[in-house]
Amino acid sequence: MIQLEEAILRILEQIPRLGLERVNLLQAQGRVLGEEVVAPRNLPPWDNSAMDGYALRWKDVQKTSAEKPVRLKVLADLAAGRIYKGRVAKGEAIRIMTGAPLPRGVDTVIQVEDTEKAGSAVKIFASPGKGKNIRRAGEDVKAGEQVLHKGIVLQPAHIGMLASFQRSFVSVYQQPRVAILSTGDELLEIDEPWAGGKIVNSNSYSLAAQVTACGGLPIQLGIAKDQIDALLSKIRQGLIADLLLTSGGVSVGDYDFVKEVLKSHGKINFWKVAMRPGQPLACGIIFGKPLIGLPGNPVSAMVSFEQFVRPSILKMSGHQNLFPPALQAELTEDIEKKAGLVHFIRCRLFREGEKTFASTTGEQGSGILSSMVKAQGLIVLPPDRNRVQAGEAVSVILLDPTFLHTPMPSYLSFADDREKNC
Ligand code: AMP
Ligand code: MG
Repeated sequence: MIQLEEAILRILEQIPRLGLERVNLLQAQGRVLGEEVVAPRNLPPWDNSAMDGYALRWKDVQKTSAEKPVRLKVLADLAAGRIYKGRVAKGEAIRIMTGAPLPRGVDTVIQVEDTEKAGSAVKIFASPGKGKNIRRAGEDVKAGEQVLHKGIVLQPAHIGMLASFQRSFVSVYQQPRVAILSTGDELLEIDEPWAGGKIVNSNSYSLAAQVTACGGLPIQLGIAKDQIDALLSKIRQGLIADLLLTSGGVSVGDYDFVKEVLKSHGKINFWKVAMRPGQPLACGIIFGKPLIGLPGNPVSAMVSFEQFVRPSILKMSGHQNLFPPALQAELTEDIEKKAGLVHFIRCRLFREGEKTFASTTGEQGSGILSSMVKAQGLIVLPPDRNRVQAGEAVSVILLDPTFLHTPMPSYLSFADDREKNC
């Protein structure tokens, strides 16, 4: 049996980062960028108007006022997307729309609210200062500047920046294909007729959902009977994947063959981790592919996934940060635990003011799937303790990110009043 931290490191050591692929920009959201992106041109590409108004020479309007407005001759109407070919001279102006390239000869734009049309001329009532209301070429990004770095996780703003430079395809790390195999003679598929003594294969589904949630592509291999040949044949089918997951058959029972198969046809890295739930866990390489043998109990399988498989999938997908942030919360009850093991206690979370509290979801057995259903987080209790007490501060891995959402954010000044009015 090895310690949790060592187990995580040893699994990650045997997990490769995948290669790159080019994807359509709209499919790149949430993926890890696989290239350095340098601006091919200035953004904006040319000086342009920041306002609807009149482009003119500041000298002409320097002394203007509401009482004594300056009159300028309007040469043309310039919509965004059009270029004015001529040059603006003394006493002249161009009616200009937001985003239109600045005509030659002008240095200032006066917003339309400070003007009045007068036939083919315009009266200017105010002058905001030289160079006002102009967006300069390259003020956002200069040509040749590095705008995005390899390894970032693409978010909507990055997608927008890539679109600005007409990048309809972008290079990203591949999504890991993760084959999922449930083992057990007792298992029944989701759509098989209900039968006495059988247990529905729920693990394949919870695990597939976890794979999807962290950006992997699940491949369902179904169920393997508790026989070496059946297991081997399904594992061979799974070799199309980048990572193989099995559930069940990894304990010390007479029908637990996963580690036997790993030993005889591959290389076992370790077996058993000092944690609860999820102590039985085997990992290694088989036919050149990494395999993580998760325990069969539904909670153990899911909790072990979060500890070992999630960081593995993230590493394969090119991520640098492989672990979720942990919150600090105050325990509301005493918890007994086994010394020597890290315990992951399913908990509900609630907030009072700035403080977060954690309460267990009740019965913590490794077969109690409803403890995961109710859980917003996993309290992590360290191996050196055999008891933790109400009032202690504990670390909690957040399972439900919506816990951090609020009905009304406190940064909106009207939120308090509104609550009072409710
Ligand atoms: P095992 O690790 O194979 O001894 O399985 C431990 C327990 O987990 C047994 O009670 C199984 O019925 C249950 N179990 C194993 N595989 C699955 C599965 N795919 N879906 C739901 N429960 C399972
Ligand atoms: Mg079994």
